[in-house]
This record gives sequence, structure tokens and C-alpha cells, in this order.
Amino acid sequence: MTTLSQTAQSEALFARAKAVTPGGVNSPVRAFKSVGGVPRFIASAQGAYLTDADGHRYIDYLGSWGPMILGHNHPAVREAIAEALATGTSFGAPSAREVELAELVCQITGAERVRFVNSGTEATMSALRLARGFTGRKYIVKFRGNYHGHADGLLVEAGSGLLTNAEGELGAAAPSSAGVPEEYAALTLVSEYNDPAALDKLLAERGHEIAAVIFEPVVGNAGVLIPTAEFLAALHRVKAHGTLLIADEVMTGFRLSPSGAAGRLGLQPDLSCWGKIIGGGLPVGAYGGRAEVMDYVSPQGPVYQAGTLSGNPLAMAAGLATLRELQADPSIYDRLDAYGTALAEGLRGAAAEAGVPITVNQIGSMLTAFFVPEGDIRTYTQAARSDTAAFAAWFQAMLAQGVYWAPSQFESIFISGAHTDTELGATLEAAHHAFKGGS
Ligand code: PLP
Repeated sequence: MTTLSQTAQSEALFARAKAVTPGGVNSPVRAFKSVGGVPRFIASAQGAYLTDADGHRYIDYLGSWGPMILGHNHPAVREAIAEALATGTSFGAPSAREVELAELVCQITGAERVRFVNSGTEATMSALRLARGFTGRKYIVKFRGNYHGHADGLLVEAGSGLLTNAEGELGAAAPSSAGVPEEYAALTLVSEYNDPAALDKLLAERGHEIAAVIFEPVVGNAGVLIPTAEFLAALHRVKAHGTLLIADEVMTGFRLSPSGAAGRLGLQPDLSCWGKIIGGGLPVGAYGGRAEVMDYVSPQGPVYQAGTLSGNPLAMAAGLATLRELQADPSIYDRLDAYGTALAEGLRGAAAEAGVPITVNQIGSMLTAFFVPEGDIRTYTQAARSDTAAFAAWFQAMLAQGVYWAPSQFESIFISGAHTDTELGATLEAAHHAFKGGS
């Protein structure tokens, strides 16, 4: 394979960007900080491929971090956006597409009500406010290594002093970002993902003051972590405390099955949050669920939430086209699963041949290759033992061979319906070389 080492245009753009934007990017992982090298500035995207500013083409496993399940620039999505564009870009008043997309989301997911916002962050933030308003309780529970966007109360790793942290000591509330007051962090309790006993204990002790437990049904944001049946059962037990169960399906929604992780894993949350695929590549988020809870949202109820661009006609059109395509061809999920399984097996084989210890976690079209010896990785604490330097070297070797993997050890990659055996074969060939330390 050719080596894609010419990065003059990306370098020049990055230098200009750094002069006018913090770190040169509009979202941190894009800066390649943990893998080094020059972030590639993307000029265009088509199907399973990205083309950068220097004209190099890459097999894309970012999928814009999840939305592009149909592949880039899908004709049905592009045409739907163009059609909407011809009728105006924003009204600030209700329009038919919002109703159609809400009806479709309710039909597919079983939600009784849905409210559109503009990002996954807004979706989780709004769902938590709703849970607090509905229950009249202050505290929420999240899990270590789960990411729910960048709202203040969710940028927290370690929760109340009553909780045990990873080292088995009592952990004080600790915001994981500067600028988050400790007082906010103190309202977020943190438990270990896939630890049913810890969750049961927390709910037994403090359930009466906990408004909601929010969780990634399959974690993508610590690298892929798959829940155990015991953990899922413990999640459902929280409802017995009058605590709402909020599934953050921003990443998994409409990806792991037509009805997301809920459909695949048999979840019955009170509320769900969506983003990414629901906007077909344009900025959308949504939250929804039981009518009894959702009707607490203004103007129906007392919990305020609003948005100038919420329900934007272009975004609704892109989301509608995407969900309709998925509905029209449900076999896409079998193809995504088959590609994911073959990629996981191929990576395991290539790594074993090169003597590189890895553990591949994969479910459907989400996959992470952790650079740790083969084992059962179920928690952030286990994932964090990965050899991030070895991952960075492998990432660069893949990039040099034209494969754009997620630029962090602790992220999922995303496969799309546009990935075929051709891309699979080229990816595994590149991986073979990369595990052997070559590019
Ligand atoms: N929730 C999950 C599970 C996510 O993966 C993300 C983003 O990656 C978010 C929430 C936040 O979404 P957004 O980046 O659209 O604000």
C-alpha cells in the first residue's frame, strides 16, 4: 500500500486553525492529542471513504463519531436535505417534518413522546432536568467512563464520599473538567459500570434521593464495554426505588438494532436519549419515553426546555431520510454485524500472528481493539490498563496505509452500510502490517 505521508495542506490548515480556535479544533479528540501527528483536515467524504486536504483517501471508521450509518453523502439523505433547503432553512415555528420524525421515532422505539434538541449533550442534560422535576429529587447516578456530553453535572468521574472508587478507597466528588463547581459535581454519584452489587448498594442506601440513573447501554466512550446480563438486571431494579432509568442511546440508538441497544438487549428505560443517527449527519438530539414523564416538559408541564433551532427542517429531513432508509432495508443490521464480527476476528488473528497482545470488544458495528492481553474487559478501570503508546503507533501505521481509525484508545469505531468486503480486506491487510510495526 502507498504511504500517505504528505500532510502539507493539513499542517497549514492546522496552523491557521490554532491561531483562531483553541487547540485548532472544535471538539478535542479531533486534535490527535493522544495519538500524535497532524490531524487530517477533511475535504470531502463519500460512502466509506474520507478524502483529506492533501488529496489522500482513507477507509473511514469514524463515521463522524456515529451518525453516518448509511455511509457519507448517501443520495437519499442528500436529496431530502436539498428538498428541505428549497423551502427555507429555519422557521422558529412548528412544521410537518418534526411531526413525521417524532411519529417515526415513537413507532420504532416504543417511546410515547419525543422532544427534539440540537445535540446529544442537550438531550441528556434535558432528560436529567426532567427526571429531577418529575421525581422532586436532586441526585443522579452515572457510571465511571460513561460519557453523556459536556453538561456540568455530567463531567464527573468520582461521586459522593459514600462511594468506593476504583482503588477501593472512599472517593470525594471530583469534577473531570476545570470550571465545574464541586457543588454541581456533588449531585452526581458515580458507580462502576458492570458492577451490579455496587449499584444495588447505592440504591439501597440512597435510592430515595436519586432522581435517575443514566447509562450507556453499550459503552462507546471508554472504548466498547458490553454489559453483563446481571448488570442489566440491576439497572432495571433501580425503578423499584422510584428512580428513573435513562438509557443514553446517543451512540447506540438505531445502530445496534432498528430500536437501538434497547431492542438488542431487552431494555425498558423510562427515558431514552438520542443523537447522531437521528440527525443523519446534521446537528440533532432528542429525548423521549413514557408520556407520564415527558408531559412534565414545558409547555405541557413545569420543566423548562427550549431551542431556537430545535426541530430544524434540514436536520429533520436528514434524520427522516436516514431512519426511512434503515426501515426500508433492515438487513443492513445483519450486514453490519457480519462486518463487525469479521473485523474483530481478523484483528485478533493479525495481532496474534505478530505477537501483539490485544483484546477486541465488538458488538454489531461498534468495536474497540484494546492494547491489553486477551481478557474480559468490562469496566473502565480494566480498559484503562491499555498500552496507549502501542495503540498510538498502530493508529499511525493504519493511517499511513489509508485507514482512518478512531484517534483514541478509548473510543469505538463505527462501521457503515457502505463498508464492503473490499474495505474489510484492505483494513485487515493494513492491520497485519501495523501489528508487525510497519506501515
Ligand atoms: N451521549 C453519548 C453516549 C455520546 O457518545 C455523546 C457524544 O459522543 C453524547 C452523549 C454527546 O453528544 P453530542 O456530542 O452530540 O453533544
